[in-house]
Amino acid sequence: MNSQTHIAVVGAGIVGCSCALWLQKKGFRVTLIDPDEPGSGTSSGNACTIATYGCVPVNSPDLFRRLPSLMFSSDSPLSLDLGYALSHPDWMFEFLLNCREHKVERIIRLLGKLLAKTWDGLDPLLDMADARDLVKQNGFMHVYRNQREFDMAKPANQARRRHGTEFIELDQGDIRELEPNLKIPFERGLLFEGIHHVLDPRALCQRYADYFQRNQGELLRQRAVEVKHGSGSVEILLDNGQRVEAERVVIAAGAFSKTIDGLPMQLMKLDTERGYHIQFSNMQHLLSRPVSWHYAGFYATPMNLGMRFAGTVEIAGYHDKKNPRIIDYLTRKAHQMLELPENPDQEWLGFRPTCPDSLPVIGYSTMSEYIIYAFGHHHLGLTLSGITGKLVAELANGEEPSHNIRPFNPRRFF
Ligand SMILES: Cc1cc2nc3c(=O)[nH]c(=O)nc-3n(C[C@H](O)[C@H](O)[C@H](O)COP(=O)(O)OP(=O)(O)OC[C@H]3O[C@@H](n4cnc5c(N)ncnc54)[C@H](O)[C@@H]3O)c2cc1C
Repeated sequence: MNSQTHIAVVGAGIVGCSCALWLQKKGFRVTLIDPDEPGSGTSSGNACTIATYGCVPVNSPDLFRRLPSLMFSSDSPLSLDLGYALSHPDWMFEFLLNCREHKVERIIRLLGKLLAKTWDGLDPLLDMADARDLVKQNGFMHVYRNQREFDMAKPANQARRRHGTEFIELDQGDIRELEPNLKIPFERGLLFEGIHHVLDPRALCQRYADYFQRNQGELLRQRAVEVKHGSGSVEILLDNGQRVEAERVVIAAGAFSKTIDGLPMQLMKLDTERGYHIQFSNMQHLLSRPVSWHYAGFYATPMNLGMRFAGTVEIAGYHDKKNPRIIDYLTRKAHQMLELPENPDQEWLGFRPTCPDSLPVIGYSTMSEYIIYAFGHHHLGLTLSGITGKLVAELANGEEPSHNIRPFNPRRFF
């Protein structure tokens, strides 16, 4: 492969933008395709943490026991639309199969190993795009209201430690000293000292896209509707009728990757975990680092634009109607946690791309040697974007990937 080799990337979220930059770094001619502004989808609204500690998935043996109370309580970060779940039994069934103890242990091990490579993928991009000012290293905190919440999280925290994540245990006095504006007297906490967070994830994507264009990358503001593969190349049909021919295509359209025709997406069981944030402008001074009220299922993150409360999981499909119960839940919890104005300035819904085994899909399509998949990063897309881009670029360049991607192969679903 050389600079004449043309690669198209579908989707300009954080994963697609990272793939595009890494492909350019390898010397490819790259076209990035997205109908919207780079980074304006799910990648804009997350909790902003580079979550290298995030190897523990939502799948959990505990979930079977906790599911009814989580689903039917108005004070829960989890919400399930039963009608949607029943009409998508494959995903639900497989998700539950992946809640068995040995499966969860496997997911933790695989995610732990991939997360350990986070900075191999991220560092070069931050330098290339001159984006270090958008990332801050001041650690991250989990807080627990009482010993019971702390004890419930113990197995997950022990798993984190087993997989190389370091943290310090905190008591009430330590928490007050580190974050004096927290209103609740959280009794226990954990401090993950080395963790970074992004101060504006949308601006980060835009910084990547600006660099991409300055470096002769082509950005097409169109929707890809179909991918056709022939001998030696692929053709991507756009919704204005235009056709883009390339030697390879990378599918990085997040949760929406399954809406593109010509790809066997149904078999891959990609679906979405909806997530929410509310944001209070100019309130970022209240915390000095992201703080997760672990039991309540969200993060409070100080960022350039204000204080963001992001998290929750809703299984209810792709429609864009926000669930008022979840907005209300986040608003109530935010007020319990910090002294804030009555109403948030922003309410947001995003679509995490999630496979039932909580592992991303990175690798060649089962169908064609010209199609590479890079989606399914669920709660970890910001964190894993750089390493995904690096692995995709190595694949496209015919190199042995620098990390074992067999567990992320789309073939695992067949
Ligand atoms: C509430 C919440 C909190 C989170 N917190 C964190 C966190 O702290 N740390 C972390 O690492 N991750 C976090 N995540 C997860 C992370 O945000 C996602 O995994 C990540 O944004 C997914 O990125 P993506 O590029 O795959 O998808 P997206 O950001 O959804 O981008 C996909 C792009 O594809 C485009 N597209 C769609 N269809 C087409 C088409 N047919 N043709 C062309 N383009 C198309 C869309 O317009 C979009 O721009 C969080 C997620 C949520 C919802």
